[in-house]
Amino acid sequence: MSRTELGTLGEFGLINRIKAGFETHHQASTLKGIGDDCAVIDLGNDEVMVISTDFLVEGVHFDLSYTPLKHLGYKCVAVNVSDVAAMNAVPTQITVSIALSNRFSVEAVDELYAGISAAADNFKVDVVGGDTTSSLKGLIVSITVIGRAKKADIAYRSGAKVGDVVCITGDLGGAYAGLQVLEREKQEFLANPEMQPQLDQKDYIVQRLLKPEARMDVIYDLKEKGVVPNAMIDISDGLASEILHICDASNVGVLLYEDKLPVEQDTLNALYEFKIDTTTAALNGGEDYELLFTVSLEDFEKIKNQPDIIAIGLIHEKEKGHHLVSGKGYLYPIKAQGWNHLSGEK
Ligand code: ADP
Ligand code: MG
Repeated sequence: MSRTELGTLGEFGLINRIKAGFETHHQASTLKGIGDDCAVIDLGNDEVMVISTDFLVEGVHFDLSYTPLKHLGYKCVAVNVSDVAAMNAVPTQITVSIALSNRFSVEAVDELYAGISAAADNFKVDVVGGDTTSSLKGLIVSITVIGRAKKADIAYRSGAKVGDVVCITGDLGGAYAGLQVLEREKQEFLANPEMQPQLDQKDYIVQRLLKPEARMDVIYDLKEKGVVPNAMIDISDGLASEILHICDASNVGVLLYEDKLPVEQDTLNALYEFKIDTTTAALNGGEDYELLFTVSLEDFEKIKNQPDIIAIGLIHEKEKGHHLVSGKGYLYPIKAQGWNHLSGEK
């Protein structure tokens, strides 16, 4: 039998291949299976449950030489809650599974769980189970989150409509800039352990990487304003990749405006230092865990004064394509260059 390298499919190609085998559901209550931020299960009485699961693997998703375990615990919960937020739902319970080698001490596990506990308190979720096993090398954390919503409030990736305003919460590129700083400090420390880390004015971007927040605050704001996004996704792989997911699922095209992309001053400064193009970082940086959503013009009127919600583009017909409009008015095709863990690695 011939062997096909995983890199030829990529992460999304592989997920689509798996998905193809499970398009038919055995249960009428399965409203959404593979292919959104969470699966959606019908509970009756116009209520639904949402479920999502995520792995964080040492050496792939985090580097313990500069990631405090407490922050890691917090982040593992936040990234899962972010997928619940991306459905416009509210998280209720999580399970936590860990695989670890004897390199880790009891105190290290305590630290990890202190972060998990802080996040559980913050997002008001209960830790209701999990699994513990050993690994040959390194730490793996997998969290499953359960949430709840009214059926009518769920925002799928597939609901974007022509004429919708594309909105984003917070700002972009910070986590990517933080990663560059921490990687540089690590290399310098390895070369010269006497070196003190140069993290002046880097607090914001370092925190964006190490301790991201799920934007549940925005979900509560939207509820208060009576706005249900037509489509929504959270930004884990980068804006470009995520907007293309929404457009693919919704069968629409998009125009994003380069000069509307929100990037913080601290992020701009660091990107300048590393000679990284701001737009590239905003589009492809990833790990910002902000929300990307589309709303009707009418609903946009209700939220346009929220300081943390920024309009960055418009949904149009699929035939018009997927483009970024530069400051000077040129059109550039949007391409997904999100993380691809599966290529180049053997
Ligand atoms: P997100 O970035 O929002 O966590 P992913 O890109 O990881 O989403 O996953 C996209 C979809 O594919 C989700 O519905 C997820 O549950 C599903 N999925 C990912 N990996 C697998 C797998 N190995 N088997 C089945 N479904 C999967
Ligand atoms: Mg997601």
